[in-house]
Amino acid sequence: MENCIFCKIIAGEIPSAKVYEDEEILIFKDIAPIAKIHLLCVPKEHFAYLSELNGTREDLLGRTLSKIASLAPTLGLADGYRLVINQGETAGQTVHHLHIHILGGEPLKWE
Ligand SMILES: [Zn+2]
Repeated sequence: MENCIFCKIIAGEIPSAKVYEDEEILIFKDIAPIAKIHLLCVPKEHFAYLSELNGTREDLLGRTLSKIASLAPTLGLADGYRLVINQGETAGQTVHHLHIHILGGEPLKWE
């Protein structure tokens, strides 16, 4: 989608520190990390909200979560990790292209 920073990253128009890519998803380092390891996992298809899930996207999201789990040890997350999906302005969603924050690499606070 035009003017979407994640679509531009996926298209290679904006550089990113990629850590994984396949035909459906891209995982790259967050430029403003809030944990020792802070990655962003984005589906290559542009949509913003979980409320836009349909059957195809539900399957994609399931495969994406499974892929994150299988990649975790190679991403330095063997000891655990946290996934966060911010939805909407009050949650702090700043890019309106669905993305999963992957946090870990150190003990994470929960407060
Ligand atoms: Zn996008």
